[in-house]
Order: sequence, then structure tokens, then C-alpha cells
Amino acid sequence: MHLIDFHAHAFPDKVAPGAIAALTSVVGPINQTDGTLADTIRFQSEVLHTDHFLLFNIPTTPHQQRRANDFVLAANGQNDGQVISFGSLHPRAEDACDELRRLIDAGIKGIKFHPEYQDFDMDDPSVYPLYEAIAEAGLVMTFHGGVDPAFPGRDRSCPQRAAAMVKDFAGAKIVIAHMGDSADGFGTLEHLCGLDCWLDTSMAATQMPPAQFEAIINAHGADKILFATDCPWGGKATYDRVASLPLSVEEKEKIFWRNACALLGI
Ligand SMILES: [Zn+2]
Repeated sequence: MHLIDFHAHAFPDKVAPGAIAALTSVVGPINQTDGTLADTIRFQSEVLHTDHFLLFNIPTTPHQQRRANDFVLAANGQNDGQVISFGSLHPRAEDACDELRRLIDAGIKGIKFHPEYQDFDMDDPSVYPLYEAIAEAGLVMTFHGGVDPAFPGRDRSCPQRAAAMVKDFAGAKIVIAHMGDSADGFGTLEHLCGLDCWLDTSMAATQMPPAQFEAIINAHGADKILFATDCPWGGKATYDRVASLPLSVEEKEKIFWRNACALLGI
């Protein structure tokens, strides 16, 4: 079966060791790669056997925005098109709209936001003009969803905020990662399921109680679920979990491949 991993991270070679060290100090030594692009391609090819994976690199300050995008632009299309890079914009960067234009001109198909690392509320109206520009260009917007272990107790990406934003951008291609909140599926079931957005399986597949994970897929529908690992933080166990779901072959094919193809225009 064809396979797209809709959520993976890699870092420029120079910063990968430090980034992995900082992040594993929060989530534990669960990394499946050393954080470099080369090792991510190895893992995606030899362990997950993906046709494509989406590459994210998030600028945590406005100042980092251009460098973060230079990295993903250079990676885009590598390994015979396996790497599909998303850009990232920092909502506080004064040149975010110019940077969006640069990404669109380079053929980038989507933008990743992380409201916790980038310090804004997902439904903050002051960020809406940027979302509007992205949606108007037909690009996908992927958002981190739910509590992030690096920011315990914060709610910048909670399912309520995600739902408010999704309702305000009907028709836009919006993906909420981690099934809305890998730590607790009840918020997703109450606020997000049934709305016009896609949910990615990363972290939730292995961390969420199995009954909640399956309840969300049933409530939201296999048409709007995307296989994703959050590699290097997730990997083969995520694939095995999704592959073992009590769904039809057609539904699994949608989650592993077809839904992502439709969103990305493949
Ligand atoms: Zn991630």
C-alpha cells in the first residue's frame, strides 16, 4: 500500500544534535533518527517505507523564519521527490507575508504552525490575515494540536481554539496534528469532530487511550484522517497501530495515502 507520512521533523546538520538533545530532555530518548535530513530519509525509506513524507522545521522566533525556510526549501523534492517540505511562518515576523510569497513561488504546498513554540493563540484574530493569505493561495495549514509536553498546562493549541479557528476558515485546508490533543481525546470528540478539518494521527496513535483514538476516527470519518508519525518522535509503532485499526481496506488506504494525495494535489 502506498504511504505518506504527513508529519516529520528534521533539522539542519549543525543544529540537529542540540535540537534532539533539548527535545529528548522533555519527551525522553524516543527519537527514531538523529534529527538530520539524511537520517530522516533513511528512516522513512528503510523503516517506514514511505512514498513521501512531509518535512517541517519551525522558527521559534521571527528572526529564525528565513533560515528555517531556507533549510526546507533546499530539502524539498530530495530522494526522488520523497521529501515534501512545508514552510513555516512566524506570526510575529513583520515580513511573514513576503516570506509566504517566497514559499509559494518556490512551489511549497503548505505551512506548519506551532502556537506553543511560536507563542500565539491558534484563534488569535490578529493572526487571521496571515491565515487568510495562506488559505487564499490554496495552501494547506498544519497546526500543532493540544498540549505539548514542553509547555505543560498551556492551551494555545487546545481543541476549543482549533474549533473556533476552523469554523472561521470554512473551506480552507486545515490539518490539526495529534488528533487535536494526543493527551486527551475528549476535547477533540466534543469540539473538533465533524468540523471541516483534517486530523493527523501522530503521537495520538500510540499515546491516546485506544478507545478514544478509535472513537475520534469513527466520529470524524476516515476521509479526514491523515497518517502521520511526528518522526523522529514516532515511527513504526504508529504505523502498526493505524494498520491494525478495525477499518476497511478502503478506509485505511484513504488514511495512509488518498487523503494526503487529495490535499497536496498529487
Ligand atoms: Zn511535530
